[in-house]
Amino acid sequence: VPGCIFCAIGNHEAEASIVFEDADTLAFMDLRQMSLGHVLVIPKTHVPDIFGLDEATGAAVMRTVVRVARAVRSALQPAGLNIWQSNGEAAGQEVPHAHFHVLPRALGDDMLRVYPRRPDYPPRAELADLAGRIAGHADLGR
Ligand SMILES: [Zn+2]
Repeated sequence: VPGCIFCAIGNHEAEASIVFEDADTLAFMDLRQMSLGHVLVIPKTHVPDIFGLDEATGAAVMRTVVRVARAVRSALQPAGLNIWQSNGEAAGQEVPHAHFHVLPRALGDDMLRVYPRRPDYPPRAELADLAGRIAGHADLGR
């Protein structure tokens, strides 16, 4: 897609420090290194977010995420590691081309604080209702 920086990187039209590449995916260093070893994994074809990923491409992206996570661990031995993926402005997505962050972590680094306050613990019946509502919309078992 014209103007998409991740498409440009995927097509080798923009500079990037590439970690891994196969037919469908590319892994490269994030320009911002809050923790050293922060890698982005993208599908080479443009999809804005996870909802646009077909299952084969989604599987290919996750295979690369797993490989890169192991490589980062082996190369840099971080104390921990997150896989981080965002969809939509409300979720903090900044580049509208689906991507997964492989983010090395150190104890006390204070990144990715998920819950700003104590979460609710709804009754089991409410959890069962939510599970049923979501299951009715999932393309499971295909
Ligand atoms: Zn793109």
